[in-house]
Amino acid sequence: MRTAVSELDLRSTASLDDALRILRDERRTPLAGATDLYVGLNFGTLPQRAFLDIWAVDELRGVAERGDALVLGALATYTSLIRSPLVQRRLPMLVEAARQVGGVQIQNRGTIGGNIANGSPAGDSLPVFAAADAVIVLRSADSERRIPITEYYTGYRATVMRPDELIVAIEVPPVEGRQWFRKVGTRAAQAISKIVVAGVRSAKPSVAYGSVAPTVVRVPRTEEALAAGAGIDAAVSVLETEIKPIDDIRSTAEYRLRVATNLLRRFWAETA
Ligand SMILES: Cc1cc2nc3c(=O)[nH]c(=O)nc-3n(C[C@H](O)[C@H](O)[C@H](O)COP(=O)(O)OP(=O)(O)OC[C@H]3O[C@@H](n4cnc5c(N)ncnc54)[C@H](O)[C@@H]3O)c2cc1C
Repeated sequence: MRTAVSELDLRSTASLDDALRILRDERRTPLAGATDLYVGLNFGTLPQRAFLDIWAVDELRGVAERGDALVLGALATYTSLIRSPLVQRRLPMLVEAARQVGGVQIQNRGTIGGNIANGSPAGDSLPVFAAADAVIVLRSADSERRIPITEYYTGYRATVMRPDELIVAIEVPPVEGRQWFRKVGTRAAQAISKIVVAGVRSAKPSVAYGSVAPTVVRVPRTEEALAAGAGIDAAVSVLETEIKPIDDIRSTAEYRLRVATNLLRRFWAETA
């Protein structure tokens, strides 16, 4: 049953310091673009009743270079990433992923902080950030910590983020090599992925998959096979032992494994 919006307790702020103080002093769920949260409200499956709207916190919105890192504010929307010359130049696989998220309305409201915090293993930006060795910046009223995305998820939709913390930014180190992204879903638009993959072709290739495990995963043994020049058939054999996709309402384990291996072949052929 739908949740009655009138029963919800909503605070909002335009200041990051205020937001962090409120999260320290009150148990509230951050709300950014609300594109994930609203689905839960609509289905009546969301247990939370108190929210903190952070959409107006503009200091979380920017895209910039700091040192040699590309720094993406947590409230950066897919539309802003698609339009950013900096992201186009430094992280084109993220632009590709952003173009394939939802439709234009979702791209205008959905944020990368929300995609990461929501923690769905089908989240389209997650393999991009995993393949790029990105670091999640978490801040509370008292401290800040940086967590590599590969250590951020502890299980299905479970993360190391504390209730008093916000994701404030994602830091992406320089990515050397040719970048590649593919999403396979039921259809091109508005479809959650059955398999999503991002890869970087370099002397030390990196490959990350979504929707093949409870969390986004890197495939280090497959990467090693590729780096060692084992050939794509050998790398595919390694991949078949390295991931164990599951059956669910969106797809079967057998189909996912087949698609995952096909995508590894395409990544290697198209980035040669
Ligand atoms: C029709 C439709 C199509 C979609 N298509 C896709 C798709 O193709 N690919 C895809 O990956 N996703 C898709 N989504 C899911 C969703 O749009 C994305 O996950 C989006 O990035 C979520 O961002 P948001 O700002 O709307 O998050 P919200 O809904 O505001 O929040 C989501 C979760 O993240 C938390 N949160 C948000 N921001 C922060 C922060 N800065 N710090 C800490 N916690 C935070 C919230 O508390 C909540 O738990 C779709 C959703 C819909 C409704």
